[in-house]
Amino acid sequence: MVNKIRLIFLVMLLIPQGIIYWMASDSLLTTNKNFSQIEAVSLASALLLILGMPSLTIQWLVEKPLRNMRELCSQVKGGNYHKLLPLSSEGRDGEDEMVALMRDMNWMARQIEKREKDLQQAVDDLWQSRNQMQVMAMTDPLTAIANRRCFFDTLEQKFKALVCQYQPISLLIIDVDFFKKINDTYGHQIGDQVLLELAKIIQDNTRGGDLVARIGGEEYGILLPNNTSQEAISVANRIQKGIDSHEFLLDANRISVTVSIGVCTLPQPPCCFDKEKLYNYADQALYHSKNSGRNSVSVYDPDNHSIQKVA
Ligand code: GH3
Ligand code: MG
Ligand code: MG
Repeated sequence: MVNKIRLIFLVMLLIPQGIIYWMASDSLLTTNKNFSQIEAVSLASALLLILGMPSLTIQWLVEKPLRNMRELCSQVKGGNYHKLLPLSSEGRDGEDEMVALMRDMNWMARQIEKREKDLQQAVDDLWQSRNQMQVMAMTDPLTAIANRRCFFDTLEQKFKALVCQYQPISLLIIDVDFFKKINDTYGHQIGDQVLLELAKIIQDNTRGGDLVARIGGEEYGILLPNNTSQEAISVANRIQKGIDSHEFLLDANRISVTVSIGVCTLPQPPCCFDKEKLYNYADQALYHSKNSGRNSVSVYDPDNHSIQKVA
């Protein structure tokens, strides 16, 4: 646009200059003694200056602000909103079109910045809610340990990973003995507190890499990766004895709680073995404990499909 304006001005400059030069030539001036060639050149220079002024003015008024606007656009494109256009005229009344345009562009840049910040905040909030929901979906609300879904998801993942590496994995299922009686005697709320305290005791007897979950009303599951059968049995014994010797003092009630535990460890090598079988065998071992007088630990041996009470 500026180049076109310049071209027009150049044409406008050249036409009067040509006329003056023609006038200054001997065809006209030789007859007019009062109009010398020097005067003609002065007139041409004056006209040149007068006609050249708008070009310079346009450059100053249009080209510079346009350049500033382009610079602002490229900064906004790059996410930099700190350098806005310099506005010479502060008042809104009577300001020229260019200043109004620059003011609008500054406003747009600020709006883009604000909306980008709002959008980022919304995305952050969404991620936070998503993470919270994920945690909630995997956590038992009463005990704050992993829930059944987390337990089986982890079993699925760990099982695959460990089987691929030929690493052992053990599963413990713990069920509270006669829990219904505790509820019936002391009330459901005390029952809840017992479940909460049990979760703590079980967690205290496991390591960081183990997964302790509440997989049913009064049932807990533990995943022990990289543990041999003997190690899994000793964890089960520790938990069973720990709970048996623990005194649950709840609302001035001294309550004794015992648990029955079933244990199964993935055989080596783990061919033709799946996670359902592992869970099923540990469950069978648990019911063996229940049927053997409770407050005990039983182990399922997947090599010869036998169950043995070990504590
Ligand atoms: P067993 O030794 O054979 O396991 O007997 P049990 O009484 O523990 O087993 P049963 O399946 O008969 O009863 C389980 C009870 O656990 C019944 C149910 O009311 C109670 N229960 C399940 N979930 C909760 C809970 O979240 N809070 C409380 N307080 N009780 C629960
Ligand atoms: Mg049960
Ligand atoms: Mg029970």
